[in-house]
Amino acid sequence: MTVRVRYAPSPSGTLHVGGARTALFNYLFARHHGGRFILRIEDTDKARQVEGSEVQMMQGLKNLGIQWDEGPDVGGDFGPYRQSERIAGHRAAARDLLAQGKAYPCFCTPEELDAERKLLQSRGLPPRYSGRCRTLSTAQAADWMASKPHVLRLRVPNQGTTVVHDLIRGDVVFENAQLDDFVIMKPDGTAIYNFAVVLDDAGMAISHVIRGDEHLSNTPKQILVAEALGIGGPQFAHVPMILAPDHTKLSKRHGAISVEEYRQQGILPEALVNYLMLLGWSNPSGAEFMTLAEAVEPFDLNRVQHTAAIYDQKKLEWMNGQYLRSVSLSRLEEAIRPFIAQAGIDCAHGPKLHAALELTRERARTLVELVENLRFLYQPPQHFDAKGVDRHFRDDAVAGRLERLAAELDASISWDHDGLVLLFDRLAQAEGVKRAALIHPTRLALTGKTVGPGLFELMVVLGKQESTDRLRAVVYALRSPQGVALTPLPGSA
Ligand code: GLU
Repeated sequence: MTVRVRYAPSPSGTLHVGGARTALFNYLFARHHGGRFILRIEDTDKARQVEGSEVQMMQGLKNLGIQWDEGPDVGGDFGPYRQSERIAGHRAAARDLLAQGKAYPCFCTPEELDAERKLLQSRGLPPRYSGRCRTLSTAQAADWMASKPHVLRLRVPNQGTTVVHDLIRGDVVFENAQLDDFVIMKPDGTAIYNFAVVLDDAGMAISHVIRGDEHLSNTPKQILVAEALGIGGPQFAHVPMILAPDHTKLSKRHGAISVEEYRQQGILPEALVNYLMLLGWSNPSGAEFMTLAEAVEPFDLNRVQHTAAIYDQKKLEWMNGQYLRSVSLSRLEEAIRPFIAQAGIDCAHGPKLHAALELTRERARTLVELVENLRFLYQPPQHFDAKGVDRHFRDDAVAGRLERLAAELDASISWDHDGLVLLFDRLAQAEGVKRAALIHPTRLALTGKTVGPGLFELMVVLGKQESTDRLRAVVYALRSPQGVALTPLPGSA
């Protein structure tokens, strides 16, 4: 059997964590089995459709490296790949079921159905369709069909069970009596999801349906539709849902945002994809860090957990930080360029970007943070950390020390780490202070901050001219009546 799986989003929003993970699992399953991964756009519900959503979703998947083999844009032998273009097929199938008596028209108005539902609920009964139109004579039904708005319902056996043989959860049994004669065609002649999905999966020769387990309750209906159509349905695998750390429904509040927003926050796609694959799946080797290509070989549905996966924003950021440290400098440069431009930093003058990245990437968790970490290399500090100023600039002797340091630095022949260490040691001794008494004010003068990369490393990257210029600017400010500018309080900038 050829493995053919699909990701079938409705274009009603952006690509989110849950959808991206579903797409990813389908992709990995297809690649693992040498099968095909198909993208189908389920766009028949025009009311829920959002302009631009399809394009955004496709772009989101592409950015993550999840490329489909067949789909609306790339075509394939089983098209069309947009559900709205398959409506004629849905209608033909519905007519067949009607002709065979497996489906019937229902003329109940929404008001009638609503009243019926309320009555059942008031008696504490589950709201099911009464089956009122089930027994209309064929002649009567045909007559009304010509003149009255109607839906089509599937005739569901009211006894027995429908079993979902789920590849992740095992057998899940549903009582048919619990399923009423559900609607398969709307009054406007378009198919309801549970009908269209079966026809499209069959039409695209889908072998496995891998999707979120919020769809599990739909699956018995889809199996009944397949039975009525006389087609063998696909195998099912329902992936456990993704919850927030407090086991509530995952939302923006927990940091879960669209794939596009993760990109804007400076999460690398390779880190996001790695994080997503661990949401419900684990590598038998225990490895946590994997590229998309590396996950293909070990990926298997039997390693998908049965319980909900927990989304952890901190872990995602931690993982991203690991990626920022380990990707090649050229990859990092490519990823960070747009962020640098957005931050208004001009890297044309000053240290080479690779050197700047190498120096600052150790401490960043996102590209946005990384840009802020390297900003000082291209822009002299405009403000100085207030606590740092209190601690390191208040001493009257500091200006003089920094001035003499600038002179020593100017005179030094070499500009490397070890040379700087020696120079600081020598000067500290001459000044009768500890090396730290030189290091702290220097860091503050050069970067505006009290923390950051190692001082000597950063001075090497910053260069001699820029380092001494900045020291002298601070000396000047310390001696002026206004003093140095402190870091403004958040929000007052
Ligand atoms: N269009 C459906 C959704 O976005 C697809 C569900 C399925 O995979 O069958 O939820």
